[in-house]
Amino acid sequence: MSACLFCKIVAGEIPATKLYEDEDMLAFKDIDPQRPVHVLLVPKKHITSLASLAAEDALLVGKMLAKTNDIARAAGSLGGFRLIINTGEIGQQEVQHLHMHILGGPQPVGPMVKKH
Ligand code: 5GP
Ligand code: ZN
Repeated sequence: MSACLFCKIVAGEIPATKLYEDEDMLAFKDIDPQRPVHVLLVPKKHITSLASLAAEDALLVGKMLAKTNDIARAAGSLGGFRLIINTGEIGQQEVQHLHMHILGGPQPVGPMVKKH
């Protein structure tokens, strides 16, 4: 069993509110939403962060990017969204499994600033 939180969510060992899933990726609601729409999109494959992305992962990340607009719209953010990928210590990445924050809502959203 993996110790990684998002691998556990992908495996169904920890519950999450899923919004989209295919063979490559899973989108689910953030447990502590910072905006009316706050979705996390993760690769099913464990990749620690953008900093450890291999060249062979480029297609996978491209597929994820190509899904973000549909996921944001399905979650209720119709007029666009903000995409954030916190990376490493300076980026204040807390979960060490690559994830895209899809932030949106009915109104324009400001930048996501960490509370701590
Ligand atoms: P990071 O700070 O690593 O960019 O973002 C991690 C995100 O994961 C945070 O926004 C946090 O609220 C979210 N998160 C942490 N634990 C869980 C969990 O168990 N379930 C879900 N759905 N989100 C989580
Ligand atoms: Zn993982």
